Amino acid sequence: MVLKSVIFDVDGTLADTEKDGHLWAFNHVFQQWNLPFRWSISLYRDLLKIPGGQERLTYYQTQHPERVSLSAAQIAEIHQMKTSLFIQRVWAGAIPLRVGVRSLVSECYERHIPVAIATTTQYANVEALLLTHFGPQWRKIFPVVVAGDHVAKKKPHPCVYHQCLQQLGVAPDEAVALEDSAVGLTAAQQAGIPTVVTMNIWTYHQRFTGALGVLTGLGTHKDPAFGRGPRHWGRYCVTPKLLEEWLTQ
Ligand SMILES: [Mg+2]
Repeated sequence: MVLKSVIFDVDGTLADTEKDGHLWAFNHVFQQWNLPFRWSISLYRDLLKIPGGQERLTYYQTQHPERVSLSAAQIAEIHQMKTSLFIQRVWAGAIPLRVGVRSLVSECYERHIPVAIATTTQYANVEALLLTHFGPQWRKIFPVVVAGDHVAKKKPHPCVYHQCLQQLGVAPDEAVALEDSAVGLTAAQQAGIPTVVTMNIWTYHQRFTGALGVLTGLGTHKDPAFGRGPRHWGRYCVTPKLLEEWLTQ
C-alpha cells in the first residue's frame, strides 16, 4: 500500500498546546488577578470535558463557589487575557512540537508525501505554530490545512477530514491520520481514514477502539515510543515506511 498523505491533528498531537499553552496561560492570569487557586494537571484533565475556556472557568466556579466569585464580564475578561497570552506564547516559540513530529514531517517532505492538517482549532493558531517551528516555507511542507474556521461542525464530526481528503485528492485508505484523543479518532474513523493515536497526559485513559496503532508518541530512532501497532506491541519510531507497512497489514 502506498502512503499518499499523513494528516496531523494539532492540539495534543503536533504540540501539547494544553499543558504548554492554555493551562499555563490560565494559571498565569489567575496569578495576575490574585485569585486564590491554580489548576493542576489532574484537575484540568477533568475540566477538559467542558468545551471552551470561558465555559470551563464558569463550570469551575459553580463547583467551587467558596473559592471564586466572578461576574460573567470578569470571566470573559480573564478568558480574553488568557487567549492573548496563549497567542503570545505560540509566537514566542514556547510551545514545542511533540517528540518525533519534526523528523516524521521532514521524512514525508523528502519522500514527496504531502503532510496535511485537520484541526478544529482556529487557523491563526495553526499558522502561528507552524510558522514558528517550520519557518516561512511551512506552506510548502503543509500544502493542505483545514482549520476550525473552514468547517461548520467540530470533531468528532468528520467534515474536517472530508475536506482535507478532497483537497489532497486522495482516498481515505491511502492516508493515515494522527490523533491524540478519542474524539479525534472518531472524526478520522468516520471519514474512513486509518488512524494512529499518539496519547498524552490528557488522553491516555481514553478508549481507542479500532485505531491502526496506539502509542505513547511518535518516537524517534534514539527514543522510540511504546504501544501497539496493528499486530504487535512494541517500541516504535513512526516513519512513512512503518505507516506503509501498517496500512498493508
Ligand atoms: Mg487533539
